[in-house]
Amino acid sequence: MTKPTTTNTGIPVESDDESLTAGRQGPILLHDHYLIEKLAQFNRERVPERIVHAKGSGAYGELVVTGDVSKYTKAKLFQPGARTESLARFSTVAGEQGSPDTWRDPRGFAVKFYTEDGNYDLVGNNTPIFFIKDPIKFPDFIRSQKRLPGNGLRDHNMQWDFWTLRPETAHQVTWLMGDRGIPKTYRHMNGYGSHTYQWINATGERFWVKYHFKTDQGIEFLTQAEADRIAGEDADYHRKDLWEAIERGDFPSWTVYVQVMPVAEAEGYRFNPFDLTKVWSHKDYPLIEVGKWTLNRNPRNYFVDIEQAAFEPSNVVPGIGFSPDKMLLGRVFAYADAHRYRIGTNYAQLPPNQARAAEVNSYSKEGAMRYHYNDPNVPVYAPNSFGGPHADPEKAADTGIWDFDPTIVRAGYVQHAEDGDFTQAGTLVREVLDDAQRERLVDNIVGHVLGGVREPVLSRVFQYWKNVDADLGKRVEEGVRAGLDSSQG
Ligand code: NDP
Repeated sequence: MTKPTTTNTGIPVESDDESLTAGRQGPILLHDHYLIEKLAQFNRERVPERIVHAKGSGAYGELVVTGDVSKYTKAKLFQPGARTESLARFSTVAGEQGSPDTWRDPRGFAVKFYTEDGNYDLVGNNTPIFFIKDPIKFPDFIRSQKRLPGNGLRDHNMQWDFWTLRPETAHQVTWLMGDRGIPKTYRHMNGYGSHTYQWINATGERFWVKYHFKTDQGIEFLTQAEADRIAGEDADYHRKDLWEAIERGDFPSWTVYVQVMPVAEAEGYRFNPFDLTKVWSHKDYPLIEVGKWTLNRNPRNYFVDIEQAAFEPSNVVPGIGFSPDKMLLGRVFAYADAHRYRIGTNYAQLPPNQARAAEVNSYSKEGAMRYHYNDPNVPVYAPNSFGGPHADPEKAADTGIWDFDPTIVRAGYVQHAEDGDFTQAGTLVREVLDDAQRERLVDNIVGHVLGGVREPVLSRVFQYWKNVDADLGKRVEEGVRAGLDSSQG
């Protein structure tokens, strides 16, 4: 026997199929409260989609620490042997919820760790860098990648207009147009914390740190032609792959590494170590192994566990702090703010966002959809005389301390010896890519530019790539001009 259908409050309903009407041909009656509940609930099934990273997929798993980085951080989750439950969400950036997984785009790589000291979120990407370095440019950048307000169309001319007007984008655009711009699956890509964070050890020593999650499945990519074909055949290609791999017990894993820079070395480093458009060379700061991160459990309900998941760079635990990376500092505000708008002020009570290994003793109260509450005998102000929680600096930690010139300015980063918008992009093209990869890079750029880029943006595109690498720029210009000639002739 199946169970009887009920209303949301448990009242058995008369019919799943017929509305209440005045006579068989008469009007529908407003007091059919079950019909009204059903239609009204349906109208409210969606929460606003994320303005970026709308299309995502995720799973639960764990981090097991195999290395020893205890001399750099006292964070409990990174102590030798520690095992911490985790949630991941991978995503594309510019597309909407139904957009194809295989569009060329960076991929979000957001990780939540349910630690004994509260939730720690590392909200990274599959790229170690980003297009811009100041959060004031973020809305401009994203608008240039989304849709024109007039006709609702995406527009390559707009994308290249922004990129060429802001040359700090060159490193990330080079990366995006290369093979790694379309991963074969979410399992076959690396993740990077991207920002520079601070680690603090048990004696109070401080280090700058960058996170690298290297895929144990190996890096694999899709060519533009493969990705275009799959976009038409199966928009959810990456979501399905991740789900099916975990269902069949083929758990994807990543080896977690960090680069560590003693605080005193930052000022003299050849690149500004807080500039998100730059990497720290592996040769200068080799990778140090931390542990193994594995995804081994699919969500029980996609909406509850993944759509409602809220990752926020503001979630740092004792032993970890922020840095002068302006993009990071902007995101520390922006993410929690986005969650309050998208899924409500009490989003931390939703199942994927609740602390799981730590006790929550917060003074926050009430607001829409509140269902956790403090001991009713304890007042909700601090200090109080009735046993309410009190802040304990011994248990807490600062969220990063650094020296700076306190003069208030609006100015870019301090330039270091080898900083330049095109320097590391050029290194990637000349020293990391092989001939076949460079060939595909040229093809991908040419194909993208031929998708509607016009003067005066077009000339700037050629100069942009010549600034990255003279030979690359020449090949891009030749390819685009040949494409334009053949389309006109
Ligand atoms: P290395 O030669 O030590 O590192 C080069 C790194 O490039 C590799 O380790 C790999 O990163 C990454 N890489 C390899 N193929 C590609 C590709 N097709 N597209 C994008 N990245 C690729 O030199 P450096 O550390 O001095 O860095 C040189 C350049 O490499 C940088 O300018 C940057 O563009 C790129 N890079 C550097 C990273 C870093 O953190 N230092 C990370 C990623 C790229 P991985 O090992 O992470 O797979």
